[in-house]
Amino acid sequence: LWAAAFDASDWRTKPNAVVWPSSSADVAAVLKLANRHDFAVTVRGAGTGLVGSAIPVRSGVVLDMSRMNQILAVRVEDRYVVVQPGVIYRDLDRVLEPLGFAFPPDPASGPACTLGGNVATNAGGIRGAKYGVTRDYLLGLEVVLPRGDVIRTGCRTMKSVSGVPLAGLFCGSEGVLGVITEITLKISPRPKAKSTGLVLFRRLEDAGEAIGRITRAGIIPAVMEMMDKATIDMLIESGGFDLPRVEAFLVMETDGFTSTEAAAQMEAIIDICRDAGALEVKMAESPKQAADLWQARRSIGPVSIKHWPVGLVEDVTVPMSQIPDLLKGVREIAAHNQLDIINFGHCGDGNLHPQIMFDPAEDGIDARVERAASEIFQLACRLGGTLSGEHGIGLSKAGFLKFEHQPEELELMRELKGLFDPNNILNPGKMGLEAPS
Ligand SMILES: Cc1cc2nc3c(=O)[nH]c(=O)nc-3n(C[C@H](O)[C@H](O)[C@H](O)COP(=O)(O)OP(=O)(O)OC[C@H]3O[C@@H](n4cnc5c(N)ncnc54)[C@H](O)[C@@H]3O)c2cc1C
Repeated sequence: LWAAAFDASDWRTKPNAVVWPSSSADVAAVLKLANRHDFAVTVRGAGTGLVGSAIPVRSGVVLDMSRMNQILAVRVEDRYVVVQPGVIYRDLDRVLEPLGFAFPPDPASGPACTLGGNVATNAGGIRGAKYGVTRDYLLGLEVVLPRGDVIRTGCRTMKSVSGVPLAGLFCGSEGVLGVITEITLKISPRPKAKSTGLVLFRRLEDAGEAIGRITRAGIIPAVMEMMDKATIDMLIESGGFDLPRVEAFLVMETDGFTSTEAAAQMEAIIDICRDAGALEVKMAESPKQAADLWQARRSIGPVSIKHWPVGLVEDVTVPMSQIPDLLKGVREIAAHNQLDIINFGHCGDGNLHPQIMFDPAEDGIDARVERAASEIFQLACRLGGTLSGEHGIGLSKAGFLKFEHQPEELELMRELKGLFDPNNILNPGKMGLEAPS
């Protein structure tokens, strides 16, 4: 029961029972029983969620989908796969890689998270700017509705405009509208070549200018990851990195069908960055050099743990042109709340991860962290952005939805939940769907 009590957030609640279904009929039986006897049912993939969306806050039953883990069909010529929800992202990738294809969203949790969890959270990854998120690849679903009816919705074709697009409604709904028991996903050819580059900017404004110019030039890098000054300072102080004290650090990857195509895009990016005032640029000449260029970005997690006991990661997303204003605003929020906040993320799609670093033993720290998080959400919304680019709402961000959504929209979401799940059986207490708050 404890193993089903938590996910990758700080929330914990023990359920009364865990059920491992092996078919949609098993899922339907549990949901019918739950409606009859009024207990909560919470669906669980791999429990890698970062916002408490798989936590059984009302106890009851956890439906652990990990045994429904079969890849049912791989149809490269039709460009789709059919999978059960408990298939791990990486296991599907291992099957698709030798065929030269991929399901591209590529969340960083890919070695552990399930495809059911990816659909339920509309997962994305560092290639989102060019290749999109899970929703862009979702063709069809089999879903057990909260009262136990099984529906098949969507299609297995590259296009369809037949009826209200219900499959999309379940994508990103964090398991509150139905239990996904089968998924049809579009797959795409894997790029055959890549080019990697690193650029350092002394001033944040210059980095913002370069990102804007790259987009205006019609180049969409497959990856454009950035770190801010606080993150760079942290890496320098850890002693393991020989970096200049600059305000922005970008690692970029371009890709294509041939290495000439990938390199031509990277060369154009580097010219733009130099023109915008880059202090230093490096282009990898070999896979080993590319891995070295990634080293600093990959080290953020482990190094931060050496400095602070806890890091609360947010994932606000703004239009790309607003990234410098977001970073400046977060810096001010950190200063007036006397907190350390490091920023890194996917600046190709405006998705940044401000990470509030603290020691929970410090007096009064909870209130300061809560206030800083709230201010970051409000700032992102003021800049035309959203509370979450990929992690979702769950329990952690339910109280902040009002910053982004108008009351009428929130009410419509609650009405929709009531229509699907009149007895509020499935994953109750999530996404602010119960009380206006
Ligand atoms: C180190 C780390 C890195 C991460 N990186 C990324 C990233 O790059 N991009 C990103 O988007 N996320 C990332 N995440 C968050 C997380 O991995 C994703 O949200 C992932 O999609 C969750 O999948 P899961 O199988 O673990 O689902 P869980 O955490 O078990 O569940 C998540 C939600 O999905 C629902 N759910 C699960 N299965 C089903 C189903 N079959 N039917 C209906 N609802 C279901 C649950 O009820 C819950 O609401 C990261 C997490 C960690 C710990």
